Amino acid sequence: MKCYLIAKKLGHSFSKPIHNALASYSYDYKELEEYELESFFAQRSFDGLNVTIPYKTTVMPYLDEISPEAQKIGAVNTIFNKGGRLYGYNTDYYGFCYMISEAKVDIKDKNVVIAGNGGASKTAVCVCEDLGAKSVRVITRADNTAENIVKFLDAHIIVNATPVGMYPDTGVSAIDINQFKSCEAVLDLIYNPSKTKIILAAQKKGIKAVNGLGMLVAQAKKACEIFTGTIIDDSKIAQIRDNIERDTKNIVFVGMPGCGKSSVGKEIATILGREFYDCDEEISKTGRTPECIIETDGEEEFRRIETRTLSELCKKSGSVIATGGGAVTIEKNFDIIHQNATVVFINRPVERLATEGRPLSQGGMEKLLKMQEKRLPLYRNFSHIEVSSSETYQETAQKVIQKLSE
Ligand code: NAP
Repeated sequence: MKCYLIAKKLGHSFSKPIHNALASYSYDYKELEEYELESFFAQRSFDGLNVTIPYKTTVMPYLDEISPEAQKIGAVNTIFNKGGRLYGYNTDYYGFCYMISEAKVDIKDKNVVIAGNGGASKTAVCVCEDLGAKSVRVITRADNTAENIVKFLDAHIIVNATPVGMYPDTGVSAIDINQFKSCEAVLDLIYNPSKTKIILAAQKKGIKAVNGLGMLVAQAKKACEIFTGTIIDDSKIAQIRDNIERDTKNIVFVGMPGCGKSSVGKEIATILGREFYDCDEEISKTGRTPECIIETDGEEEFRRIETRTLSELCKKSGSVIATGGGAVTIEKNFDIIHQNATVVFINRPVERLATEGRPLSQGGMEKLLKMQEKRLPLYRNFSHIEVSSSETYQETAQKVIQKLSE
C-alpha cells in the first residue's frame, strides 16, 4: 500500500513518523506544483493521500465522492483510492474534536473566538458549531486591530488557527490573551514549538492551554483507519503524541557557572544521539568570547547578546542546550527557553564549582555563595527537573537520563 502527504512545499513534517507508528504501509512526502495536480490525480498511482497547504480545497474537483463534513467545511485532507474511485474526507474535523475532548474543554453554550480565516479555521468553526457553542466568531487579519478586537473580548474559548508563533518565527502571538478577561481555555493548532507565546501567556494566568500535536496525531489516526479499514484504539494517539513530544523537546540545562552543564549536556547528547549546543560557545563563534564581551562592554550588553543567542538555539527541536549560569536572571529568557524544552537544573555544591576563565565567578567563596543564594529560586522556577550533583559528570548524566525517563 502506497500513501503520500501532498503539498506545494513541505518543511519539517511530523506526518511520516506518525503514520509509521500507526501502520506498516509506505508513507512518503510529495511536493507538487498546482499544474501537476491534474496528471497526478489522473494517474491515481496511490492508495491513500493526506493533503495539506495549499491544496485542501484545490483537490476537491478531482474526487468522486466527498464526505458530509468535508463538504460542509469545504476542505479535504484525506483521500482514499478505492478501486480507482477517489473518496475525500476531512479528518482534521475528528482531530480537532479529539483535541477539545482530551483537554476536557466544554464548548457547549460558550463564546468561541477563532483567530485566522484559513482552512484550519473553517474546520474549527464547523466543530464548535456542531458542539453547541453559544457563538462562534472568526477574527480575520482585518478584524485584528486594537479598535476591532474589543468586539471579541467576551470570548470563553480562544482558538489560534493562524500560523502566527509557529517555527521558525516563534515568540509572537496573533492575540493578546491578557485582554480576554473571561477566557477559560486556549486551543492553539500550532504544534511546533510545543508552547507558543499564547500558550505560555495562558498558562501563566492559570488558563487551560493545549497545543495542536494531539490534533495532528488524531487526524492521522483517522486517516490511517480510512486507508486500512481497521479501527485503531484511541489510546494510541496519546502514546504517539507523548513519544513525539519527548523526542522533539530540547533538554536545556540551567545552573551555576561551572556546575557542569556543558560536560553533562555533551555526555547526554552523545548517549541520546542528539545535537549539543553551548550558548557561550555559540556566542564565541561571533569572534568575541563572553569574558571579552563582559570586560569590554559590560554584563548588560553580554546579557542582550545571550538572549539573542538563546532565542535562536531554543527554537530547535530535540537538541541538548547548555545555558550560561546567569541566563535565568533575565525574565524574558523564561519564555524563550520554555517554548520547547524540558529544563534541568544541575545543583552542584558551591565548593565544587569550576571557576577558571569565568569572570563573574571570581572573588572567592563568599561571592559565589551570595550568587547562589540569589539565583537558587530562579533556577528552581526555570526548571522542571532538579538533579543534585557532587559526583563525576558521567554519573550526573546518568542521573539526568533516569529523571527524564520517569
Ligand atoms: P492558512 O489556510 O494559511 O490560514 C491561515 C490564516 O491565518 C489566514 O486566514 C491568515 O490571514 C490568518 N492570519 C495570519 N496572521 C494573522 C493575524 N495576525 N491575525 C489574524 N489572522 C491572521 O493555514 P491553515 O491551514 O488554516 O493553518 C493555520 C495554522 O493551523 C497553521 O499553523 C497550521 O500548521 C495549523 N494546523 C494545525 C493542524 C493540526 O493538526 N494541529 C491542522 C491544520 C492546521 P491572511 O489570509 O490574511 O494571510
